[in-house]
Amino acid sequence: MKKPSAKTAHKLITIVVPCYNEEEVIGETVARMTRIFNNDRDVGFEFIYVDDGSRDRTLDLLKGFAETDSRIRVLSFSRNFGHQIAVTAGIDAAKGDAVVIIDADLQDPPEVVLQMIAKWQGGYDVVYGTRTERQGESNFKLATARIFYRFLNLISEVPIPLDTGDFRLMSRRAVTALQSMPERDRFVRGMVSWIGFKQTKIDYKRAERFAGVSKYPLRKMVKFASNGIISFSTKPLKLSIFFGMVCALSSFIAIIYAFYSRFFTSNWVAGWTTLMIAVLFIGGVQLICLGIIGEYIGRIYNEIKGRPLYLVQERIGFEDKRIGDE
Ligand code: UDP
Ligand code: MG
Repeated sequence: MKKPSAKTAHKLITIVVPCYNEEEVIGETVARMTRIFNNDRDVGFEFIYVDDGSRDRTLDLLKGFAETDSRIRVLSFSRNFGHQIAVTAGIDAAKGDAVVIIDADLQDPPEVVLQMIAKWQGGYDVVYGTRTERQGESNFKLATARIFYRFLNLISEVPIPLDTGDFRLMSRRAVTALQSMPERDRFVRGMVSWIGFKQTKIDYKRAERFAGVSKYPLRKMVKFASNGIISFSTKPLKLSIFFGMVCALSSFIAIIYAFYSRFFTSNWVAGWTTLMIAVLFIGGVQLICLGIIGEYIGRIYNEIKGRPLYLVQERIGFEDKRIGDE
């Protein structure tokens, strides 16, 4: 890291860690973070652990850690609201001049954050970590993630960096910009791309989970992916035009064929099969299009209800003054 400069001296950095049923790793995570991020550099740190409605001992353990280190703060949700919302709540509660998002399972090496801080001190607003390698993931997850990020980039209205998760640092003005986006279906990594400013990446190797299992079952992965696509592109809505054109074209060919068989061959009674195919095909296409429209309308409905994004049940360690000022 750079030597303290007049411009960056005594800055506070908030580390946001979403945690859901992480009792097996959280002790190690807290210990490692506390060790790596010590205040005797040119920056101070605060840690916000967001307990996303864990059903195991995660919250109890976090409360214990908060008692031993005044830099540790804990937000606990009234129930499980999901990873992206937990990240949002942590960012909302952050007081830092820069905010870092990092997973609780030590897959994102905390050491990389030090490089991110150096880049931020060099004037960048967003420094995101791009995974060059992912250890300990199933081939299925690797393949689907690869396809997802490429497909998303293809249809998204803003370029979203490939193979990049939420592991990143954001400057205060980037955070303020992010907070001005109140949308409910949050795809944080895409939203941060949307805000612009000076962004750069750091390549890193994603480690294996330290302990425990992934909290992203297939169901959550599918929801997350469709959120990303639908929040960042209206192209699926336009798909119906494409389907319609394909249908029109194929029916045109079928009509010519029907006329041909009626007038130039003796083989023109066999109409039932083609009829069924046409009805089923068009019915299928119509249902797909309705489904796509329904997805967007569902989201409009969700937005219009205007419910809070999350409900906090307990806030621990937030009362005291800015620790970084000590
Ligand atoms: N997480 C969360 N709420 C959830 C699911 C996950 O806060 O509903 C947290 C989890 O504790 C972890 C991070 O989000 O810190 C990423 O989850 P995980 O490591 O299970 O995902 P993977 O790395 O397998 O994609
Ligand atoms: Mg993980």
